[in-house]
Amino acid sequence: MAAHILNGTEIGQQIRDELRQQIQELKQAGVTPGLAAVLVGDNPASQIYVRNKIRACEDLGLYSERLTPPATITTDDLLAVVGELNRRPQIDAILVQLPLPRQVDTRRVLLAVDPAKDVDGFHPMNVGALVANRPGLRPCTPAGVMELLARSGIEIKGRRAVVIGRSDIVGKPLALLLLHQHATVTICHSRTQDLPAVARTADLLLAAMGRAAFVTPDFVQPGATVIDVGINRINDPATAEQLFAGYPQRLEEFRRKGSALVGDVHPDVAEVAGALTPVPGGVGPLTIAMLMVNTVQATRQRRGQPAPAHPSKLAAVR
Ligand code: NDP
Repeated sequence: MAAHILNGTEIGQQIRDELRQQIQELKQAGVTPGLAAVLVGDNPASQIYVRNKIRACEDLGLYSERLTPPATITTDDLLAVVGELNRRPQIDAILVQLPLPRQVDTRRVLLAVDPAKDVDGFHPMNVGALVANRPGLRPCTPAGVMELLARSGIEIKGRRAVVIGRSDIVGKPLALLLLHQHATVTICHSRTQDLPAVARTADLLLAAMGRAAFVTPDFVQPGATVIDVGINRINDPATAEQLFAGYPQRLEEFRRKGSALVGDVHPDVAEVAGALTPVPGGVGPLTIAMLMVNTVQATRQRRGQPAPAHPSKLAAVR
């Protein structure tokens, strides 16, 4: 039986619609949330991500700014850019798009962002709040996964969750959020032995490794929920033919465009899983929706605004 497909685009849209009302309320109180995105250099993927984030702000009527220092910027000069954004009262949310160029000390830059404006949730203060399960700004992608699970009615409490990937941005915070919701959590990484066997113990399998179609059906317990966080671009026709053998539409699209986005989960997993997020259209749209949620949350807290008259149905993370 084919897996139930969890539609991230639809859920992301629901969240944005709920936020729209809250933003109207804030504007009526004379407050327009403001987000600044710092995009260093000309990494094409980063350019697309930042463009989509700015578009989401525009769509919701938020104030946004894109700052584009050159790829040659020094750590000190970037710290000065961040410091200036920290001081500006109309900026509620700061994101520094990663990765930064090699000569820049990423940790120092992330540490310099005012924790109250840290909408990516990367500052150690927000990381600490997450570990301690205290209020704070949560990283957008893991928060989006939790929201997707909650809104899809997928039980977490008491279930076995296996997270593949231990990055600070996705794997680790995702594992903590699942733990706080009472899952029994295992974290896997590149040194994990017999990964398929560990993965098969999962009721909830979450792949965040950045390896195209790595998670094949033999990783998956029949009926498990599989969340595919990976975003990988494939350009090789032989790979596409192999991956999309049973999916003529996707193969056709690959031939037309010369490339395709695939997750960390092999498309054939749909034959085994109970529920599955697609790529694209799964976790991706939730990441941006949660960035907007965090921007509104940061604004309300920084500017002492009361709880919304029309609270959103956000269930998972706050
Ligand atoms: P990282 O490269 O920082 O981390 C990858 C993790 O996967 C590491 O912990 C690594 O283990 C583990 N890993 C890699 N290869 C294997 C393997 N063969 N077996 C087991 N574990 C392995 O990536 P990110 O966490 O930043 O991103 C992960 C994926 O999610 C990427 O595809 C990225 O594009 C995508 N992503 C998607 C977002 C979205 O909005 N949907 C947002 C952010 C990321 P080790 O630590 O041992 O090296």
